[in-house]
Amino acid sequence: MASRESQHHDPMARYRELRDFAATPEPEPIERSDRSGTNGSARRAFVAQSHRARARHVDLRLEHRGALLSWAVPKGPTLAPGVRRRAVRTEDHPLAYAWFEGVIPSGYGAGDMIVWDAGHWLPGTERGESIGDDTVIDRMLEEGRLRFVLQGDKLAGRFTLVRTGDDQWLLMHARDEHAVDGWAPEDPMVSVLSGRSNDDVRAGRPASWAPADAAELAALLALGERGTWEVQGRTVSLTNLDKVLIPGTEDRPATTKRALVAYYAIAAPLLAPYLAARPVNLHRFPDGTDRPGFWQRSVPQGAPDWIRRWDDPAPNRRSAHTHVVFDGAASLAWAANLACVEIHPWTSTAARPALPSWCLFDIDPGTSTTWEEVLVLARLHRAAFAHLGIEGCAKVTGGRGIHVWVPVSTRTTFDATQAFAAALSRTVGEVVPELVSWNWAKRDRGGLARLDHTQNGRHKTLAAPFSVRARPGAPVSVPIGWHELDDPSLRADRWTIHTVVERVRDHGDPMAALVGVDQDLPDLRRS
Ligand code: MN
Repeated sequence: MASRESQHHDPMARYRELRDFAATPEPEPIERSDRSGTNGSARRAFVAQSHRARARHVDLRLEHRGALLSWAVPKGPTLAPGVRRRAVRTEDHPLAYAWFEGVIPSGYGAGDMIVWDAGHWLPGTERGESIGDDTVIDRMLEEGRLRFVLQGDKLAGRFTLVRTGDDQWLLMHARDEHAVDGWAPEDPMVSVLSGRSNDDVRAGRPASWAPADAAELAALLALGERGTWEVQGRTVSLTNLDKVLIPGTEDRPATTKRALVAYYAIAAPLLAPYLAARPVNLHRFPDGTDRPGFWQRSVPQGAPDWIRRWDDPAPNRRSAHTHVVFDGAASLAWAANLACVEIHPWTSTAARPALPSWCLFDIDPGTSTTWEEVLVLARLHRAAFAHLGIEGCAKVTGGRGIHVWVPVSTRTTFDATQAFAAALSRTVGEVVPELVSWNWAKRDRGGLARLDHTQNGRHKTLAAPFSVRARPGAPVSVPIGWHELDDPSLRADRWTIHTVVERVRDHGDPMAALVGVDQDLPDLRRS
């Protein structure tokens, strides 16, 4: 381990020294001088990651002074009282590491990793209550006896870490109300963020959340105008359940808040690949979608403790400091109860907010653009990607347009996705100049379509696959196979909250296979 002195000057020095950030998908530390004096009353994050490296272990990490204190626990933490588990202190990790799941390539820590548990921790006394500010934690570390309380989904209650020499510690759980004799973790261990096991991550499978089950849905239907709903182990307070949020159309029924809550709770597994461990912007319509809505970018007042929160280390004026991160059906139901109709995830993850994992193309029709013309533009994108050998997937927006999502490698920057999308859009537009306007303002477009490549930026978003859209009849944005562009029955708003689950049952989700595809974008500026 680096000396305490050098850690004092750059707490991430040792972490950097051990890693090659051109090769590993792990977060690269960023400067967070603004966080160096974190107030002792702020909630401190903890994370326990199941890491299959040379030997399987659990990495226990506790937020302190803008970093994560870390111990590798070979047999993992336990709630069994009196059981001592060896714990080896390792280098401090950046805060972003608390959101990291993935496969670390050959080299330091090579192996697969999931966020097995996450929550908050408090420094404690023997009796468990929180006592402290940062200097109290400093002293306990120096004395080699760190008492703390964990508040996680799986780990909870009073723990003690006792130093036995150099970097060797012992981890113990107290005999408190959370203690369970003979306790063992679930097998296989599963991520609280993505629902994945280590095997799933190793195999490149996308996140998957359990949907609300039949009994839970029956309970939702049986609720009155308001009540509390038990779903997936969480309690969600629901209000105004029979209020119409989305008007119907001639052949599509109006959508109540109850129906919106039910949709998101059922569609959770479809949304998981696109939302897990990502900050989101929520488009809320508390007065219904025929009235103006507003963007909710920060965690709203009164959100339950179990809603996961992510602090943006580089918020901008239009962004927010603390974002919601969904982790399953209950969190989606909570948002739906806030009349969040549309969910727009970031193209980057909480672990690596400065690096996108998708490059986005937005075929945005103008007032006089026909559906046939939208299809012409989408087919030109299809041809361009085929020509370049780039994998991408189209989705109908649920409105009038089509989006194309292209997965990018962990090395790709926003500058690269922005440049690639701009160059490709130009090329497509030059083939059909009569269909496309390059004017930014809608009123200057002369009714023509816009190929909007500007959504490739850190705080920019498009509606998620399987997000409901704020339009009459509650259409849903749905990924499609490229061949479906030639299906005469395709429409941008073909599927609604009532038909999308059946659509996916019969046709699957062609975009899910692209999650995490490691592809570098060609530099079109040189060709
Ligand atoms: Mn480890």
